[in-house]
Formats: sequence, C-alpha cells, structure tokens
Amino acid sequence: LVAALPRDSLRTGTAARLADPGGPGRAAVVSTPEGDIEADLVVGADGINSGVRGELFPGHPGPVYTGFTAWRLIVPAPERPFEPHETWGRGGVWGTQPLKDGRVYAYGTALVPPGTRAPDDEKAELTRRFSGWHDPIPEIIAAARPEDVLRNDVWHMATPLAAHHRGRVALVGDAAHAMAPTLGQGGNQAIEDGVVLAHHARPGGDLFAGLAAYSAVRVPRTTAVVRRAARTARLNHLSHGGLIAARDTLMRAAHRLGPNLITRGFSSIADWRPPGPPYAAETDAGAHGREPARR
Ligand SMILES: Cc1cc2nc3c(=O)[nH]c(=O)nc-3n(C[C@H](O)[C@H](O)[C@H](O)COP(=O)(O)OP(=O)(O)OC[C@H]3O[C@@H](n4cnc5c(N)ncnc54)[C@H](O)[C@@H]3O)c2cc1C
Repeated sequence: LVAALPRDSLRTGTAARLADPGGPGRAAVVSTPEGDIEADLVVGADGINSGVRGELFPGHPGPVYTGFTAWRLIVPAPERPFEPHETWGRGGVWGTQPLKDGRVYAYGTALVPPGTRAPDDEKAELTRRFSGWHDPIPEIIAAARPEDVLRNDVWHMATPLAAHHRGRVALVGDAAHAMAPTLGQGGNQAIEDGVVLAHHARPGGDLFAGLAAYSAVRVPRTTAVVRRAARTARLNHLSHGGLIAARDTLMRAAHRLGPNLITRGFSSIADWRPPGPPYAAETDAGAHGREPARR
C-alpha cells in the first residue's frame, strides 16, 4: 500500500485533530504538530475513542461498557492435538484457535466492573478463573508468560450514529461502530467500510453524493452487526444457572437438528461481497441460488 502512494505522503505517529469538517466549496482541515493539512476528504479511522467522531457528532453519548473484560494471548501450540473451540461457561467464554504459523490464539472473558485489574498479574488471574476448565485451556494458560496476556475491557457503541459522515469527513471502523468482539466482526466491518468508501468516494466523482451513499449503505449494515454482537454477548455471558441450562439445552437441540444450523445464522454477515463489478454480479447470482460465473 505504501509503495502505491506518492513519496512522503504517509506519516505515522502524528497526533492529528479534525479542525474543520469542510463542505461544498470549503476544504476540510486537519491540524497536526507539523501544521494544518487541507483535504478534499478526511477519513476518521481513529478507533473507539475517536476524536473525529466527537467533533462531528458532539451530542452522541459515545461507547458504553458491555459488562465484560477480555484477555487475549498467543502461545506455542500445546503438545497434544486439540479441537479449536469456543466454550460458553457461567458469565464468561474461552476460545482456542490455531494460527497459520503453528502457534495458538486464545481468549477468555469475564463479567467484571470496568477498570478491574488483577492484584498480581493477568496470567495469575486467568489461572484463578480458567484452570478448572477443560483441556487444552489449563495447558494454554500455563504456556503463557505474564507479559503475553493482553487485557481490554470491552466497550461498544450501543447508540448508533445517525450517519458515518459529515461535510468532507467519513468515519470508518471502531470510530463509526465499535462492537463487542463476540462475532469477530470489528476489524472485518472496518475493512468493509474501507472498500465501500473507496467505491462511493471516487476521485473526480460527486464527493457529497458519494459520502451520503456510503452512510446509506454502512449505517444499517453495521448497526445490525453491532446489535447482533451485543445479543450474542448477552447469550454467552449468562450467569443465572437456570438460564444457562436453558441456553445449553437449546444449543444442543439446534446442533442435533443440523450441525450447520447455528453457523447458518451467520451467513448474512459472512456472505457480504464488495459493491461494484465483478463482485456485485456474483452476489446477485448467489442471491438467486445460481453458481457465480467463473472468472
Ligand atoms: C478483545 C477483542 C477481541 C477482538 N476480536 C476481533 C476479531 O476476532 N475479529 C475482528 O474483526 N475484530 C476483533 N476485534 C475488534 C478489532 O480489534 C477492532 O474493531 C479494530 O481494531 C478496529 O480498527 P480501527 O482501525 O477502526 O481502530 P483501531 O485499531 O483502534 O486503530 C485506531 C488507530 O488510530 C490511532 N489514533 C487515535 N487517535 C489518533 C489521533 N488523534 N491522531 C493519530 N492517530 C490516532 C490509534 O493510535 C490507533 O492506532 C476485537 C476487539 C477486542 C477488544
């Protein structure tokens, strides 16, 4: 990506602030310590605590705590073979997934007040909470060094934005729609944003119409995914024994009816295709049950 850009056009590690979102006949302005930059288009990709979002939508309440914290770690693969899994327990989950390079990515979650931290270290906290869970979880935790364990409280945007743009500024990713990680979609939706924005805000086109189209496509899509991620978070963080028993019975019944029944519900998210040819044509074909044309 960098090689495709004009020389010296990429600067990282620069604190930037949106000074003016601009409009028809007026450029947008971004302030940096090295001076102001005027731009036809500004993309606010500054994450969950987005300053750009705050400038564009000062009345928006911002992200709220989901109720759970998450630990993530990457460790060498355990000695014994294991089934990749996500296990739902009481008020928390554990997932273990192999990575392409042979190592293992694992995560755990727990319902705790925001800002809670282990009195000693987060590996010790994982040991206290998860060492009684099934294999390979204890072995995964034992293989981690304390400094391998990343912990983040999970926040999301329970109130959607009315639009993902204002003036000459588009918001993408967590700045626009931070969500619970329960569907693994935060980063994926950010990539979709980028693709759709590039499609609608083409150089030489009508930027304001393009940004309006971008919001029209992305607000309903990402609002639905944020809500679904929140529903999944409520389901896999149940802490009442009776509700957990009912959930587990339903999940088992659904699995018996058809192993793909549960994952099929994910299709409306995973079946996304980029707008415009050649992908849109494939989506249309797929929607009518035909094989997409080979290219
Ligand atoms: C526990 C957990 C598990 C997750 N699992 C998944 C998963 O399995 N799959 C998935 O798709 N997503 C997952 N996500 C979500 C994913 O991490 C985020 O959705 C994604 O990182 C959002 O990308 P972003 O570029 O919008 O924001 P960020 O990754 O937060 O990047 C924003 C960047 O902007 C920079 N920045 C902020 N302010 C300024 C400023 N004023 N000037 C300059 N730079 C600035 C920040 O330093 C940062 O580098 C998970 C999240 C969590 C917390």
